[in-house]
Amino acid sequence: MKLKKSIIALDIGGTKVLGALFDQDFNLIDKKKKSTKTHDGIERIFDQIVKVISKLLETASESNLECVAIGAGVPGVIKDGVVLFTPNIPWDHYPLADEIESVFHIPIVIGNDANVSLLGEWGHGVAKNTVNTVGFFIGTGVGGGLILNSKIYTGHIGLAGEIGHITLNPDGIICGCGSRGCLESYSSKTGILKYIKAQIRHGRDCVLKDEINEQRSKYILRSSDIKDALEKEDACMIEALEIATKYLGIAVASILNIINPEMVVFGGGLVEALGHDFVLQIKSYVNRYCVPHATDDCSFEISSLGDDACLYGALTLVEERMISQEE
Ligand SMILES: [Zn+2]
Repeated sequence: MKLKKSIIALDIGGTKVLGALFDQDFNLIDKKKKSTKTHDGIERIFDQIVKVISKLLETASESNLECVAIGAGVPGVIKDGVVLFTPNIPWDHYPLADEIESVFHIPIVIGNDANVSLLGEWGHGVAKNTVNTVGFFIGTGVGGGLILNSKIYTGHIGLAGEIGHITLNPDGIICGCGSRGCLESYSSKTGILKYIKAQIRHGRDCVLKDEINEQRSKYILRSSDIKDALEKEDACMIEALEIATKYLGIAVASILNIINPEMVVFGGGLVEALGHDFVLQIKSYVNRYCVPHATDDCSFEISSLGDDACLYGALTLVEERMISQEE
């Protein structure tokens, strides 16, 4: 009996490894997840990746499917299957593709997670059939991606689309990348938490104050906490969101001026939680900071794939890089 083909897609992050098995018609067959911690060593994270792939291969075998390729999205700068740098995982010039291939003997292609997520929206989501599209993925950090002339644009060494590290305030707070005043420092959950903590230190009240003071450095700000605080009309959170959306608006306006895309896609945990109101607030600032007509015929859309954008993008990456080359 001839086995049908299948593809494994991975979303590898600082807190989890998410995997999905797709059949050759791109139907989702199975999903598996393993958690990781930021202080986990290289071996432990690699073990979790291997476990997720192994479980999905078991499903493939039970379903009479042959896995022909693996695609993966990973945070950081990726070049030719090597992770040059990634935040939250101790990988430095780590040959991730070779390491996975040496275990499973299945070809693998890897890309930056935000680039890959936008590719997912372009291949299977809200940006399908667009030619020039920009993606903003707002969660713990701010990731970005560019589709130019119907192709993901990764740049000379693979770091294009690092929209989260555009400097918006040269004298601003120090960012995880080493620079100052990056978009991510104001508009991510990490940036919003920094602002709230500073307000609490200045003696202001905030609905999250007790929880933050009790848990100190262990406190993790969830998108749902931000939504709850806004619903309770918490003044500090309203200000933090004003700043976050203003800086996002300035960044979107600058990108519109350079790229002139037909669509801007907003995704990530914060966008999922806050929805259209959040995007409308960003848009109100975009109009203030872009050149006249830059928003003409440019649609602002929310990711339609949500948490699965990176998985569908990893699938698209395989379609683009491997399947199209065979034909
Ligand atoms: Zn930065």
